[in-house]
Amino acid sequence: MTKNYDVAILGGGLAGLTLALQTKQANPDASIIILERRDGSAPDAAHKVGESTVELGTHYIREILDLKDYMDEHQLPKHGLRFFFSPQHKNDISKRVELGPRKLLPVPSHQIDRGSFENYLTELCIERGIEVQLGAKASNVDLNYEGHTVHVERAGETHILHSKWAIDTTGRSGLIKRKLGLKKDIDHAVCAAWFRIKGDLNVDEWSDNKDWNTFLEPGLRRLGTIHFMDKGYWVWLIPLATGNTSVGIVADPAIHPFDTYNKLDKALEWLKINEPLCYENIEPRKEDILDFKVLKHFALNSEKLYSEERWAVSGESGVFLDPFYSPGTDFISMSNTFISDLITRDLRGEDVSLHTSVYEKTLFAVFNNWVPLYQNKYPMWGSTQTMILKIFWDWAIYWSVPTLIFTNEMFTNLSVLKNLFASEDGAGQRFGRLNAQVQTLLTEWVEHDDQAFSDRYIDPFDIGYLKEFHLGLEERYSSRELVQKINSNMVILEEIASEVFRLMSTKIYGTATDLKVDPYTMTLKERPIDNEMGTLARPAIKADVAVMWYYK
Ligand SMILES: Cc1cc2nc3c(=O)[nH]c(=O)nc-3n(C[C@H](O)[C@H](O)[C@H](O)COP(=O)(O)OP(=O)(O)OC[C@H]3O[C@@H](n4cnc5c(N)ncnc54)[C@H](O)[C@@H]3O)c2cc1C
Repeated sequence: MTKNYDVAILGGGLAGLTLALQTKQANPDASIIILERRDGSAPDAAHKVGESTVELGTHYIREILDLKDYMDEHQLPKHGLRFFFSPQHKNDISKRVELGPRKLLPVPSHQIDRGSFENYLTELCIERGIEVQLGAKASNVDLNYEGHTVHVERAGETHILHSKWAIDTTGRSGLIKRKLGLKKDIDHAVCAAWFRIKGDLNVDEWSDNKDWNTFLEPGLRRLGTIHFMDKGYWVWLIPLATGNTSVGIVADPAIHPFDTYNKLDKALEWLKINEPLCYENIEPRKEDILDFKVLKHFALNSEKLYSEERWAVSGESGVFLDPFYSPGTDFISMSNTFISDLITRDLRGEDVSLHTSVYEKTLFAVFNNWVPLYQNKYPMWGSTQTMILKIFWDWAIYWSVPTLIFTNEMFTNLSVLKNLFASEDGAGQRFGRLNAQVQTLLTEWVEHDDQAFSDRYIDPFDIGYLKEFHLGLEERYSSRELVQKINSNMVILEEIASEVFRLMSTKIYGTATDLKVDPYTMTLKERPIDNEMGTLARPAIKADVAVMWYYK
């Protein structure tokens, strides 16, 4: 007998499992099935990438899905993102300029062992009445508003099921994207290779410098997502709750050709040349390497994400940009929140056409605003001063606008979205334009960043406004207050942008330190002149930006 469901979720990875939980939470009576191709449990420690979460995705997992007890007990707390620059000191980690939090950040995040996490989520889905079929491959789906037909291959047989909603969470297989020809090109051709190694890789032990070793509480450094940086690449180290460590190389092929690290032996040779301390600490334990995987050109785009014809895509079957700031789980969180809301409204009998269109536009707006963070930026990954300015800018925009909207659970509030994004002057649209301008500015500036810095430590909490943006994520606002807060955060961002520009311009052209600039049109291509309508920065912001400016 053919079974009928309210929701068929095709693919039981992170996106599919969490979407099922969120949708069931909002609709306890809904019948939901997850079809997962993998037969049996996922392996611990060497399953998938997507191991480091940041604030937005962490809020989703801990608060919206209410998994904080599980996360605290079974996964690792993360000690922020940590960056090592000064590529001239690759043999002495204690001399490299280091960026990262000194104390545990108040707003939590995690390092996740994807295998054990997906196994737990699967059990939880079953416990909550969601049907989970393992070893079940969705081979095709006939989409139809009146009821979709899903073809399933399981144990050598093919059967069909019907569902009101069909959600593609098949990851890179992208079942619906392929079927409907929705794949869209994206101009970001970065590649990656990664592996998991048994046991710890504790960077604290990579130097005998006692001052450096004790600068942070023992053990905190290794809990961060570590980024070793140089021109065209970054290397990650992520500790996992199973006691193992994830190691990855992410590089721009124009600078580091993919075939120089796309096999394990080549990757080790590549580390020997580019990150010798990683090599020295990994190569003797080569036998402990558990897996080795690669992805060429991993960025993904799609023509469509949500349809009023009752289908949607989430996770990597939709869009993905770059893992530099660990944003994969963020995009899953935003997308799942939209999809779960659409399903909930539809099951209540509401017309969801307006919501579908607004949610899709919003997700694409966030994605498109994020593209300039990475696009053509890998050549600057080795420039210490540029990267400090960039990382602090990227965190400022991340915490002060999209993450704040999400932690206030207003992503599905149409009046907030309309207020922020509907008009060109709205804070949301200005946010996109301002960010694009600053990312261009960094590209113009980097050729002037000609000094090598070393022996410094910088903490995001040294910067007053960054600390406030981070702590602000715990504040709860009404929708009206939130719009006001985002607008006042935008004023701060405009002042930061103008102040960063002034410092750069003073170094290059010797212009005045109180030059007024329009942050939306500023350029370093020629000597800037005072713009009477332009922006200055308040003394506190000037002082904050000065902390991250090393040319003195
Ligand atoms: C190099 C790299 C590093 C990354 N690092 C991070 C990070 O640190 N933090 C972060 O948040 N994100 C990170 N990401 C992104 C993260 O990996 C993804 O966001 C996340 O894994 C996507 O989850 P998903 O559920 O969409 O896909 P998956 O986890 O791949 O799940 C898809 C599931 O669908 C199943 N499936 C496939 N086809 C079918 C079918 N036809 N029928 C049934 N089942 C099917 C598969 O077996 C799989 O279990 C990284 C990405 C890359 C490329």
